[in-house]
Amino acid sequence: MVSYAQGVDALNQSLSELRDIDVSFEFFPPKSEKMEQTLWKSVERLAPLKPSYMSVTYGANSGERDRTHDVVKRIQQQTGVAAVPHLTCVDASRDELKQIAKDYWDSGIRRIVALRGDLPPGVQKTEMYASDLVALLKDVADFDISVAAYPEKHPEAPNAQFDLLNLKRKAEAGASEAITQFFFDTSVFLRFRDRAAAAGIDLDLVPGILPVTNYQTLVKFAGFTNVHVPGFLHKMFDGLDDDDQATRNLIGANIAMDQVKVLAKEGVKHFHFYTLNRSELSYAICHMLGVRGNGTK
Ligand SMILES: Cc1cc2nc3c(=O)[nH]c(=O)nc-3n(C[C@H](O)[C@H](O)[C@H](O)COP(=O)(O)OP(=O)(O)OC[C@H]3O[C@@H](n4cnc5c(N)ncnc54)[C@H](O)[C@@H]3O)c2cc1C
Repeated sequence: MVSYAQGVDALNQSLSELRDIDVSFEFFPPKSEKMEQTLWKSVERLAPLKPSYMSVTYGANSGERDRTHDVVKRIQQQTGVAAVPHLTCVDASRDELKQIAKDYWDSGIRRIVALRGDLPPGVQKTEMYASDLVALLKDVADFDISVAAYPEKHPEAPNAQFDLLNLKRKAEAGASEAITQFFFDTSVFLRFRDRAAAAGIDLDLVPGILPVTNYQTLVKFAGFTNVHVPGFLHKMFDGLDDDDQATRNLIGANIAMDQVKVLAKEGVKHFHFYTLNRSELSYAICHMLGVRGNGTK
């Protein structure tokens, strides 16, 4: 029988293995005054954790690129943390993209998350894919470039191998890092990392971690994005629909903590958090990982 003291020792031992962890946080541009306040409160709360960067999404086809730019600039100026815009190519000409990239470079931005973006309804094909955008950005300046990766396959890709070769093209075009779509089955990420290594893909693979705060929305979103929601997750949230948010947050944080612990033990050193502009869960998970506000890790 394991004593309480042995249990605590084992826990401390496993936490001490989780050292030298880097984190990054993803936000989206707010659409209302209230959302704006939530965003900046979260940025201020998470910035002292000294993340590698904070990234800001851009809704492809939304025509609101300026809002991404404004948030990126303010994060960089206000917190000193490197701010990283997401840039999509599905809704802009090559000339426009070059101009945007030049403006970013001139305002001190050195990393971009380069994406194709979702196709507008009814459109089947596009002139540019993310790999073309990576090449275009590298032509403009020597940006560090992150791209998207899909451990469970991008919904449009005919098969997993096709999608993996697409990731390889993005690496060959000059990307240095790939952030994954969120996932819950940790072995899916580990198998994907093995397949990427076997295919000679030279990219840092950064797992995208989504701490679940709204289970119903998650189930819908996972359906669009081809992400499997395992049975254990359904069971965890079962019966909590009408319970208070704090209870669901505890469950969500617990699931994400288990996920990052396993991944850290498997040698993952960088985690990207889809914060949905909230800080509580990401902050708690980082604290557990040993990423602390006083700069110690
Ligand atoms: C970390 C992350 C961040 C994201 N941020 C944003 C964001 O800020 N804004 C936003 O709008 N969306 C965002 N997305 C969603 C993303 O834009 C969509 O998933 C989009 O559908 C694909 O973008 P991609 O960059 O992966 O495209 P690509 O890498 O270009 O791949 C798109 C699809 O096309 C296929 N493909 C590639 N090349 C070819 C070819 N030559 N011929 C035929 N098929 C090809 C691929 O296999 C894949 O199925 C993000 C996704 C992730 C994982």
